[in-house]
Amino acid sequence: MQLYENQQIKLYNSLTGKKEIFKPINKGHIGMYVCGPTVYSNVHLGNVRTFMSFDMIFRYLKHLGYKVRYVRNITDAGHLENDADAGEDKITKKARLEQIEPMEVVQRYTVDFHNILNTFNFLPPSIEPTATGHIIEQIELIKTIIDNGYAYEVNGSVYFDVHKFNETNEYGKLSKRKLEDLIHNTRTLDGQSDKKNPQDFALWKKAEPQHIMRWPSPWSDGFPGWHLECTAMSTKYLGEHFDIHGGGMDLKFPHHECEIAQNEAAVGKSPVNYWMHANMLELNGQRMSKTTGNTVNPDELLSGNNKFFSKAYAPSVIRFFIAQSSYRSVLDLTDDGLLASEKGFYRLMDAVNLLNQLKASEKSTLDINTLKQKCYDAMNDDFNSPILIAHLFEAVKYINQINEGSETLTAEDLAILKEIINTFTFDVLGLENVTKNDSGTDKLSGAVDVLIKLRQEARANKDFALSDKIRDELLEVGIQLKDGKDGTTFSVN
Ligand SMILES: [Zn+2]
Repeated sequence: MQLYENQQIKLYNSLTGKKEIFKPINKGHIGMYVCGPTVYSNVHLGNVRTFMSFDMIFRYLKHLGYKVRYVRNITDAGHLENDADAGEDKITKKARLEQIEPMEVVQRYTVDFHNILNTFNFLPPSIEPTATGHIIEQIELIKTIIDNGYAYEVNGSVYFDVHKFNETNEYGKLSKRKLEDLIHNTRTLDGQSDKKNPQDFALWKKAEPQHIMRWPSPWSDGFPGWHLECTAMSTKYLGEHFDIHGGGMDLKFPHHECEIAQNEAAVGKSPVNYWMHANMLELNGQRMSKTTGNTVNPDELLSGNNKFFSKAYAPSVIRFFIAQSSYRSVLDLTDDGLLASEKGFYRLMDAVNLLNQLKASEKSTLDINTLKQKCYDAMNDDFNSPILIAHLFEAVKYINQINEGSETLTAEDLAILKEIINTFTFDVLGLENVTKNDSGTDKLSGAVDVLIKLRQEARANKDFALSDKIRDELLEVGIQLKDGKDGTTFSVN
């Protein structure tokens, strides 16, 4: 018997706005699709949070014994700068600016994406398909939507007819928008567009002469619209109707709304039973944004080389910090928050390491089975990782009490306690057992901070010979100090 037969999951379905009992379409099997990154720049930390939430969900479902087919795509074409089908393709633009091939851009940032995810101990998805690898499927899908009367061709481009669709279906049901409001809130495009209505979206775009990423199609040499790839790939690998579709909150509209419309227009039914959305990550109480400079890359956060954080943080500390909030809450990344998580994380690891040294007794004075079920209950309640962590700290308390001799466990209960810790800390939360002293970057960062302080003191004392000596000798061993208006940071060359 599999664990899932005794553990009933309730999850928050964005489509209905309610927590619902999770029931897979095929017993014991789950199909899950999560929208992956557009690989035109280094992966955004907010995206890392989204993918980490689904990594934890994937891990828990697997732990329960489900056979999960987890599909997370790579968008390597068709994502324009502007969601309203205008602007340049993001990858083409980067290629033009750097004077390299678009596929070099794709390769570089796909590698970066995988490196970052490996650093954070992600499990790979079952399938990681690319948009450019599924052009034929996308063209076939467009043909079906045209045949069904929900799309039209103008000047070599094909658009989805949102108004026609809305006559028989409900456009906006996921994001709770009404077409009338959308019409009211959209600026007219002064006839610049071929679309019948501004709400229509591109399924196929004819490529301008300078557009390098192009494929032949019945309508023009061009490229598929961004929303289309996810419908084509989810249908191909998970079927016309599957269990879970996830992504970041910002994808709900228009991306996921358009996916639903495409599926309903193509096959006449809604593709997904449960829509799940991970919330946003903020930095110091404000939206992360490249334009305002309020942003930090995963690399910069891990190395400590940034102006926002006092030190480098281990990947598991960041993972722990993220798991301390529900995936549905806005999470504010702050130095104080990370410092507190770091303390908690190492306290948990200390207890984990102490656990192996505990001796069994004749009888148990603690109720370990109740604790175990509480851990499952937390995860069964819409993957409530902060509550799970609270229960793990109850286990930490037990471990310390047993170690001090104030409580006891039989060998059998001690084995259950070990199983709880191993299952939830490592298998489900995906943390890695590192102790504070293992972390080389942590030590290095601490040592350089000491030198930065000494250099500041030297400068304050007008001992510029010493301050320059510290800077130059660090540079000789490959550590470059950078003085900025928010203090001195360093990079390791
Ligand atoms: Zn998608």
